[in-house]
Amino acid sequence: MTNKPIYTSSKLQLLCVHNKIFITLALIKTNYAMVSQLLFLVLLLAAIGLFAYNARKIYRNIRLGKALDRSDRPVERWKTMLKVAFGQSKMTKRPIAFLLHLFVYLGFVIINIEMLEIVIDGLAGTHRIFAPLGNLYNVLIWIFEWLAFAVIISCAIFLIRRNIVHVKRFFGVEMTSWPKTDANLILVTEILLMTAFLFMNAADYKIQLHAGEDVHGAFPISSLLTGLLPESPDALHLIERACWWFHIIGVLAFLNYLPYSKHLHILLAFPNTYFSNLNPKGKFANMESVTNEVKAMLDPSFAPPPPSEEPMRFGAKDVQDLTWKSLLDAYTCTECGRCTSVCPANITGKLLSPRKIMMDTRDRLVAVGQNIDKNSSFQDDGKSLLDDHISREEIWACTSCNACTEACPVNIDPLKIIMDLRQYAVMEESQAPSSINAMFGNIENNGAPWKYAQADRANWRE
Ligand code: SF4
Ligand code: SF4
Repeated sequence: MTNKPIYTSSKLQLLCVHNKIFITLALIKTNYAMVSQLLFLVLLLAAIGLFAYNARKIYRNIRLGKALDRSDRPVERWKTMLKVAFGQSKMTKRPIAFLLHLFVYLGFVIINIEMLEIVIDGLAGTHRIFAPLGNLYNVLIWIFEWLAFAVIISCAIFLIRRNIVHVKRFFGVEMTSWPKTDANLILVTEILLMTAFLFMNAADYKIQLHAGEDVHGAFPISSLLTGLLPESPDALHLIERACWWFHIIGVLAFLNYLPYSKHLHILLAFPNTYFSNLNPKGKFANMESVTNEVKAMLDPSFAPPPPSEEPMRFGAKDVQDLTWKSLLDAYTCTECGRCTSVCPANITGKLLSPRKIMMDTRDRLVAVGQNIDKNSSFQDDGKSLLDDHISREEIWACTSCNACTEACPVNIDPLKIIMDLRQYAVMEESQAPSSINAMFGNIENNGAPWKYAQADRANWRE
């Protein structure tokens, strides 16, 4: 028997070439995975860092406000937050808007669970790391897909309401081009993000079918999209990865867009409702300094506390004179216009719009913050919230009915700002409309707001 070589030299050469290609492809694949993980880590850290930087500035701006103790009644506060922010209880007054908003809200909260998987996959270089959860995973993906679909439909309807039906409350002098663009931009972004999510799943589903594997996940919506995708596995992989990156980059960009947008309410609605005013509506806080003076006049034995070192201002002329809660309110405003739509002053054609009060306060606060960033501390810029942003005509048009605070879905209190501005006008400048000055005179002279002596107060019975 002769020993015949198994491989001829040409076969050996071919085998070597094959091996080289195989090793090169394996290296490219490993390098791609490493580069992709590294890129993901850098993006994630940069996005979180930038968001933290802007969040710190917002926190600092809110702290420019005057002190206010809202640490009382924690149980009641938690209940209010759960009911109003989590439960969206005040949204139910407009059922259609409530339902659409609920889909977007649930979509935002629940689909972000999917983000957890995306983040882990991105960092660890894995693919659908939660798939071993089996049926639970299938149910979750099934829910995510239906929610994504509901978010797309809801956002489309919101866009139609704003841009085609022209729902009245989305318009007003304060709704200039930026607030309108801001609202549309986010709605379009949400549609794009959800579409990318569904196409990512569709491509993944098709890849799994081609590979003849057990399918991980349930794809009620994306399975309907597979017909729109190519057959080639390479193209499917490319689409799946492109949608994956688009989705995650979109979410991180959205996170960093929040500080510049009314959509900051998706985060601030929770602390804002927690720190709500729990007192009965219409109850105004007495000013301590004035109360002490009155007490001293009525009771000579009353010893008022020593006056504070800091120069005191009655009411508010600028944002630093408002309480931190009013400033938090301003950042939380969703610009929904529910307050303005129920405001009797606005309905009867007066200049006042409570939404504008909140938007003006936020604009001024942002300007003050930028001033501090530029100069290390606030330098007088010759401007103030009163007069440069909010006019006297606006503040005196308010009937103090509280309809705006009642209507606000995130418990914002525009009336508090209006009252603080009025207090400044009256107590610091002695400026008030003539009708109110007449009432002040009557109170001073007659002890009552009417124009006759106290002794005649019961004459009407005659
Ligand atoms: S309290 Fe003033 S701003 Fe608010 S709804 Fe009534 S009138 Fe309008
Ligand atoms: S104050 Fe409240 S009701 Fe008014 S626009 Fe802002 S979020 Fe809407």
